[in-house]
Amino acid sequence: MASKKKGSLSINSDNIFPIIKKWLYSDHDIFIREVISNACDAVTKLRKLTLIGEYEESDDVAYRIDVIASPSDKTLTFIDNGIGMTAGEVNEYINQIAFSGASDFLEKYKDKATDDQIIGHFGLGFYSTFMVADKVTINTLSYQKDAEPVFWECDGGTEYTMSTGDRDVHGTEITLYLNEDSYEFANEYRVKEVLEKYCSFMPEEIYFTNADAAKETDDEIIDADTVKDSDTNDAANEEADNADEEKNEEPKEKPINDTTPLWNKHPNDCTEDEYREFYRKVFLDFKEPLFWIHLNMDYPFNLKGILYFPKFNSEYDSLEGTIKLYNNQVFIADNIKEVIPEFLLLLKGVIDCPDLPLNVSRSALQNDGFVKKISDYITKKVADKLSGMFKTERESYEKYWDDLSPFIKFGCLKDNKFDEKMKDYILYKNLEGKYLTLSEYLEAGKEKYENTVFYTDDEKVQSQYINMFKEQDIDAVVLTHNIDTPFITHQEQKDDKIKFTRIDSDITNTFKEDVSEEELKETTDQLTETFKKALENDNLTVKVEKLKNTSISSMITLPEETRRMQDMMKMYSMGGAMDPSMFGGNGQTLVLNANNSLVKYILEHPDGENTKTVCAQLYDLALLAHAPLDAQAMTKFIARSNDILSFMTKE
Ligand code: ADP
Repeated sequence: MASKKKGSLSINSDNIFPIIKKWLYSDHDIFIREVISNACDAVTKLRKLTLIGEYEESDDVAYRIDVIASPSDKTLTFIDNGIGMTAGEVNEYINQIAFSGASDFLEKYKDKATDDQIIGHFGLGFYSTFMVADKVTINTLSYQKDAEPVFWECDGGTEYTMSTGDRDVHGTEITLYLNEDSYEFANEYRVKEVLEKYCSFMPEEIYFTNADAAKETDDEIIDADTVKDSDTNDAANEEADNADEEKNEEPKEKPINDTTPLWNKHPNDCTEDEYREFYRKVFLDFKEPLFWIHLNMDYPFNLKGILYFPKFNSEYDSLEGTIKLYNNQVFIADNIKEVIPEFLLLLKGVIDCPDLPLNVSRSALQNDGFVKKISDYITKKVADKLSGMFKTERESYEKYWDDLSPFIKFGCLKDNKFDEKMKDYILYKNLEGKYLTLSEYLEAGKEKYENTVFYTDDEKVQSQYINMFKEQDIDAVVLTHNIDTPFITHQEQKDDKIKFTRIDSDITNTFKEDVSEEELKETTDQLTETFKKALENDNLTVKVEKLKNTSISSMITLPEETRRMQDMMKMYSMGGAMDPSMFGGNGQTLVLNANNSLVKYILEHPDGENTKTVCAQLYDLALLAHAPLDAQAMTKFIARSNDILSFMTKE
């Protein structure tokens, strides 16, 4: 190409550059991904041509991509030694196709351009460089025989120029002259950060150079040489020579990326150590994952990936995993919930799916049948792994259960299919610390509690009830996690025969002598009156029982339904706004044990000097064993306890 050619890019759109420049402010860094993935493609294509014998590479060419930042020149350059382009190809691919690709893309999305609508902003391609550059040049030489180098330049207007270039190795060099707002992309750390984000697993080796730092090192070497020459001391010279040899022994340059990520290896060829190391490297999490699933599917779609189960022991709403989505080793984005079921986002993992349609908006993706299949496949694989573990390694499954439980329960709540697959593998820890399935628990207690699942949500506070259960050989399960509240409701909805009941919601027959309410009526009336008076509380509900355990004096019971309702109100922080007495008292019943000596004392001394104190103390003790006291009640309780002790020790 002897003469300079000028052309205009305005094909059918006014001017895309102002739009591109403003495009998605927060994601300006994706131009790096776009340019480097083009470079990777160019190299991969040449590699393939060599493989099939269409091209013969000279021996000394190692395929690579170089990213060179120059803070002093405010440029960023990408060089690949791939197939390059002829003038005709630049015309076709850059002036026409790439341009129309970018303008199509903008045309389609400019009205909907809120940040997260387009997955990974795929499709913007080469022209995304104009988000950050005032001027872009391409210097390219096609691999084809007798090809001439081409130089292309465009200053961000609609005009470009093409002339003869000076590249002497096949491949393409793209230089971005950064605009004032984008100088950050000439900064070593910033560029490395972006490379790490998008290019860590791209399939061709990528090397980074800071042109300014490289220049400085060259200067230093020249300085050292000058000093050495003027030195007359032989010994010193020799030493310097040695040092120099060491220096000249080039440290093996390392690419910034791993071109053969673990997920592409066959699961049979991966070692435990490799999985762990990959986890540490990718998620910078130095806590060991519990276990992992290697996804490897070719048909009916292509999907590879590794999902790790981290330790889940904090509250579920603060759990946060990361699923990184890739398309042929090119990073797209984290946690795309349109592709990955929400509950799986609690895991940490990578998924590479080359078949995903990425140049569509998120809402389109959400309604895509194919994407749904992918998401179902992942869910199924996770459920299969867990149920398989239950069946063949129950011991490990139990060991992991406390960590897995919130994740699995959340999954059951969120995803029907997962729920269906996992329903028989939900474990419940019982009072002895054994892990039982629901049917195992019900089977063991079928004579005593039929379809009721007794549970405690606080083993310390509810220890009095727990002891009572243990004495009567009745089992209960421990459900202490936040997610258990919605989860047990969910279980009850699925099977209306099953009822979850907290151990302090009622005193069942097992715990008491068989005495009718009639027989206890007089005692009840009398005790009610005494307590109401002593506590100055007219709303008090009192029930008298003859409990088998005579050491228990008083207890609080609260029907399961009422308590759940109250918990719900608290959760939606309506607790303060609504006084429980609006619903006819707080629903609590003070149960007094007529077999207990303190209760007997009150019964016999309704007007005794200390009766009031004993009543108040018994009431507080009952409350304490049910739930923590509020501050005011606690203060009173402590003061009264001290009074009682002073009284006892009075000389
Ligand atoms: P896309 O990559 O989606 O096709 P781009 O705008 O990124 O769109 O690029 C347009 C075309 O320009 C590419 O398809 C390719 O043919 C050509 N191209 C871009 N960069 C290079 C490169 N480094 N080497 C060879 N060809 C390239």
